Amino acid sequence: MSLLLVGTMAFDALETPFGKVDRIIGGSGTYAAWAASNFTKPIKMVSIVGGDFPKEETAELEAREVAFEGVEVVPDGKSFFWSGRYHMDMNTRDTLVTELNVLAQFDPKIPDSYQDCDFVMLGNLAPGVQISVLRQLKKRPKLIIMDTMNFWMDNTMDDLKTVLGMVDLLMVNDSEARQLSGEHSIVKAAKKIREMGPKYLIIKKGEHGALLFYDGQIFSAPALPLEDVFDPTGAGDTFAGGFIGYLSRINDTSFESMKAGVIIGSAMASFCVEKFGPTRLKEISAADIDKRVNEFVTLSNFEIRG
Ligand code: AMP
Repeated sequence: MSLLLVGTMAFDALETPFGKVDRIIGGSGTYAAWAASNFTKPIKMVSIVGGDFPKEETAELEAREVAFEGVEVVPDGKSFFWSGRYHMDMNTRDTLVTELNVLAQFDPKIPDSYQDCDFVMLGNLAPGVQISVLRQLKKRPKLIIMDTMNFWMDNTMDDLKTVLGMVDLLMVNDSEARQLSGEHSIVKAAKKIREMGPKYLIIKKGEHGALLFYDGQIFSAPALPLEDVFDPTGAGDTFAGGFIGYLSRINDTSFESMKAGVIIGSAMASFCVEKFGPTRLKEISAADIDKRVNEFVTLSNFEIRG
């Protein structure tokens, strides 16, 4: 099944307790594409970059059957830039700089060749852009998932509420779920958020795993206890790309399949954090992914006897 992916393609400057990089490739779309392309093809990307975005980066993704017809290049513009600093716990971070650059003028145009996509991921991006993409689709996809963050809750809440009413599944982290709902309890937050539109909700809890909520049911996925977490940037987008890439591959949107999707997403995210930027995602093989998914299965598999 084809997957339509909307997200940023960016430069990031990152600081973690283990090191610092001034300019590395990032963006929600980039991470999601690297993760999803292990599972499904073709991927049809919607984004915007400046003339400064390296052609080798897009070529590497094109080699994995990621299509760029829907990616606008502004030759004399600058790509989106984000800078963040992680705290010692690696679960929390401060945004130091957000420069929208070409993103400020982004008015996506969905090419005709993208209209056959049954699976859609709206990566973290201005909710107005997410809405525009959905309104251009001529038929309702089988599954629409979206990500968002506090930046959009602070700045564009009305648009965010509109897009929440148009999607099947929202993915946020625990602090974003609390901010969006105004509830401290994650269970109450999930109830309120699902009342805003999405039937399914995934709440990511960093090194404590992720929860999937649907119709009174909750599925809990662990995070793999890793010896070294080097850089958590992009883990959320990687999780989302793995999740929807897997569902697109098996062409199934049932709750049972979503549970497996959450494990696949968690496994992909566990690779992402092992090196700065998308570096680790570029190295891994299908065998590495299978091995990692099996570690997840072993991690929480048990038998009660007697
Ligand atoms: P994550 O760690 O999964 O939340 O994603 C980090 C990626 O999101 C970075 O590579 C950033 O370039 C990108 N990012 C940060 N802020 C924003 C924003 N306001 N809108 C879209 N993408 C963003």
